[in-house]
Amino acid sequence: MKITDIEVIKLRQKEDIEAIGDSTQDAVIIKVHTDEGITGLGEVASSPYVVDALINAPSSKFLCTGLKSICIGRDPLENEPLWADMYKQSSWFGLRGGAIQAMSGIDMALWDIKGKALGLPVYKLLGGSFKKKIRAYASVLFPDTEAEIAAMVKCYAAQGFTAIKFGWGKFGNVPEEDIGLVRAAREAAGNAVDIMVDAGACYRDLHMAIHQARELEKYDVYWLEEPFPPDDLLALAKLSQATDIRIATGERLSTRYQFRDLIERGKVDVIQPDVGRVGGISEFRKVAFISQMFEIPCVPHAWSSDILLAATLHINASIPNGGIFQEFCLSGRPLRKDLVREPLQLQDGCLVVPEKAGLGIELNEDTVDKYRIL
Ligand code: MG
Repeated sequence: MKITDIEVIKLRQKEDIEAIGDSTQDAVIIKVHTDEGITGLGEVASSPYVVDALINAPSSKFLCTGLKSICIGRDPLENEPLWADMYKQSSWFGLRGGAIQAMSGIDMALWDIKGKALGLPVYKLLGGSFKKKIRAYASVLFPDTEAEIAAMVKCYAAQGFTAIKFGWGKFGNVPEEDIGLVRAAREAAGNAVDIMVDAGACYRDLHMAIHQARELEKYDVYWLEEPFPPDDLLALAKLSQATDIRIATGERLSTRYQFRDLIERGKVDVIQPDVGRVGGISEFRKVAFISQMFEIPCVPHAWSSDILLAATLHINASIPNGGIFQEFCLSGRPLRKDLVREPLQLQDGCLVVPEKAGLGIELNEDTVDKYRIL
């Protein structure tokens, strides 16, 4: 089998792009075509325009090559040597960030092709599943008021969720109001629901962050996510060592090398790689196995369509230190919910790992036609 083309599908919900602000207003889907008629699907959690450029850039110099021209003619089942070649030949503009994010979508599609070719779900190719269903946490933005957050907690608990993460929004503006929101969430949840807080890298001052983290501990917050930018390893380490609350981060990072630094120097308690940024399924596995050696749980980040979520479920189910939670974005936008023909199943607050061959999902071409941009 040979790769014949890589298609970058840019999608954008034009009508209210300014109003949404939750980053589900655009998406970038990767289709890898082969000479045997099997097509693999992937998704990148990044800028559609940047990903398009990184994949379709004409060859410039040996170490400065667009990803598509590296892949054409290669065997899609040989994903590890292809990953290594993409990593090397894009290294002048790559090694981190956008290039690795674009590689993530291609790698995801290669695993989809492999599963379809062999008639097996991806999790079986990865060694099998420790779990068939994974506890989902409802992932939403912070509202403005305590009354709103209390109502949200009750609403999601009634839907069967046993864990809820609030992030971004107004969090980080007024310290006392932040604690008030979390207190109201805990009071509405009782002890039946885990509450997580995503600070969205809002802190500028280590002492303020330590004070706020100690306040959050009083409300039994399961983890404090991204208190600082993920590059600020010293601040993460000092906060982690000064408090008992779990410190979680990693959604913006890529490759085993950044995660090794995050674990060794950042001293975080939970890592959160995103399969659409870390380097795809192939690199995610390596990151997860490294974190397992350090006794660090791996809880994947996922804030996009069911294509990315399906890939995440396969890997989350198959890694020994996974399966704890699966992030589930509750945005109602069409590019979050309507990009696959049959949405992933949510049963009793748990997401079901797909059983069909490959990633186990089918692209909804009607949604693609409606939102495709050039
Ligand atoms: Mg986050």
